[in-house]
Amino acid sequence: MTSMEARIGDATRAVPLPNPWNLNAYLGEVAAYRGRSISVRQVPGEMLAERGCRGKGLWVARTHDDIIVYDADAIDRNADHIILHEIGHMLLGHGKAEDEPTAPMPTTLASLFPSLSIQHALGRTEFGADREQEAEVFADMTMVYATLPRKKGRGFRLFGR
Ligand SMILES: [Zn+2]
Repeated sequence: MTSMEARIGDATRAVPLPNPWNLNAYLGEVAAYRGRSISVRQVPGEMLAERGCRGKGLWVARTHDDIIVYDADAIDRNADHIILHEIGHMLLGHGKAEDEPTAPMPTTLASLFPSLSIQHALGRTEFGADREQEAEVFADMTMVYATLPRKKGRGFRLFGR
């Protein structure tokens, strides 16, 4: 079994961070890496309070793409952080197998999406404390390194290779 540090290191190295940092460019790279498009959608925070990661974000996995839903009140770095937390779940392999059952979408959220194609809505209840912490560390580290001034051409290396 690999350590949390090793898993997070692998996840952070999987997709290079854009320099200068640009969340949309990064989402595009992550989508290309995973072969599934990713879209983000703001919803009223109260829809996420119960199920969402830290009460702020949710990963909605559909058959052919993924949607990151996040609190519309979050702005700038806070919004980036919530989205990166969900990206962390994706790159850390926290998604469920296709045939694994999951709790139904809350009806308020389900009304926003074409429900037929939804496979899983994943939030803190589904992930559990350990995976929540992993995703949060991923988001913390990515935010720090994304916003550090970096020399041109220097790779993103956290644990030295
Ligand atoms: Zn989470």
